[in-house]
Amino acid sequence: MKALRVAALMVAFLSGRAEVLAIESVRTQEIFECRDNEVMTWGDGLDRPAAASPMKIAYNPAGAPPWFSEKQASGMVALAAAAWSLCGVPSQRVAWNPGQKQPADLVVVQWNEAGSGGNFGLANFRLRTLSLGPKAFGLLKSKNPGYDAGATLQMVISHEMGHLFGLMAHSRRCVDVMSYYSNGKGEVCFSRDRSQIDSVPEYRNDFPTACDIERCRKANGKRPLAAGRLVPASNGSGR
Ligand SMILES: [Zn+2]
Repeated sequence: MKALRVAALMVAFLSGRAEVLAIESVRTQEIFECRDNEVMTWGDGLDRPAAASPMKIAYNPAGAPPWFSEKQASGMVALAAAAWSLCGVPSQRVAWNPGQKQPADLVVVQWNEAGSGGNFGLANFRLRTLSLGPKAFGLLKSKNPGYDAGATLQMVISHEMGHLFGLMAHSRRCVDVMSYYSNGKGEVCFSRDRSQIDSVPEYRNDFPTACDIERCRKANGKRPLAAGRLVPASNGSGR
């Protein structure tokens, strides 16, 4: 029995696991390392300094789909803010009453169909809002009930937050959270190994990559990352 189990494991490893591990490693390398020529955009916007620095961020759960708890969604906002903090623009989560006037240094993450423009999410730099789209997430759930919509929500929050940190253009590097895979004119995004793009359900990362952070640091007048490498915060706290 023991030998059989080992043999079965070996078959599983050789037929699929090794490939999966290889795919993960290229993608993971791209997430943590930005090479000199890899900061690339679709040229659809001009980067600028963040909407506020330091930035205060509040989450308003009103109107959220019932399957996203306040704890889950606000946790995702916190994770995205922590990841973008590597940009060098400090941010702080704050409580905010929607009845109050919005301070000039406050970004509000909210559920607002009009604000989302029918998308999963849309950032408004001038109003300092990050509007999530209840309808788009409802459609995703009804079409793919088994799909983890939480991963999509995290990616959308991270992406739209990137716009508020000053990244106006979309990235042309597939793995970047700010990326578009294609410009609709037949041109496709860049990867060190294009053959692996379709091998994972979603190649784009849920959080800013080394190139997202590199571009954000430049837009905000910060020094480049050492060796283009992202060093994740070891204790999850700020810097
Ligand atoms: Zn965008």
